[in-house]
Amino acid sequence: MHYYIRCPLRQGQYPWVEAIKVVLGNCELDIAYTLPKWFLHDRLKASVKENLKRLTHRQWQEAMEINELCQTYKQHKTELEQEKYLSMLSIENYKTLARFRCASAKLPTVKAFYRGEELTFCNLCEEPELPNEMHLLLKCERFAYARAEFLPSFRNITEPIQQVYQELINTQDPVTLKQLATLIGFIFSFL
Ligand SMILES: [Zn+2]
Repeated sequence: MHYYIRCPLRQGQYPWVEAIKVVLGNCELDIAYTLPKWFLHDRLKASVKENLKRLTHRQWQEAMEINELCQTYKQHKTELEQEKYLSMLSIENYKTLARFRCASAKLPTVKAFYRGEELTFCNLCEEPELPNEMHLLLKCERFAYARAEFLPSFRNITEPIQQVYQELINTQDPVTLKQLATLIGFIFSFL
């Protein structure tokens, strides 16, 4: 990279060199393009890597902020890294859980979003409550029986429900994860 950048005649000659210029600019390292001799290869590489990581994380957070469908997702997804449940569940189960977490299913809130509707109650249990992911998993009476069967340890909740939801959706316990995916699969069959 240094070889091509160092030679002014080559600058602008190759699209990939220009692409590197953009990357360095995004990393606020423009100076490394114009004066590459100032930088040691390994330190520049480490600096670009760290800056790209920070930039990607910021873009990810900004994308979540402007996407209304990410309201629940951003509550339980705090780190930009592969979720552990992906390697702990069967393909079918992790797909179910991923769809639920990412609002990639026919959830009442997702359907209302695409229809431009504003939900004031849950049409599954008729309660005046937003039928979001937390409601469906832990509160909706329509799934009380399934909840008791598939997630028996969550039958009688005494802690604040938001806290319980956070712990449940981020659990790394293999048994609970499988039960959770099974319950969500059951809920999906009603949507
Ligand atoms: Zn409900």
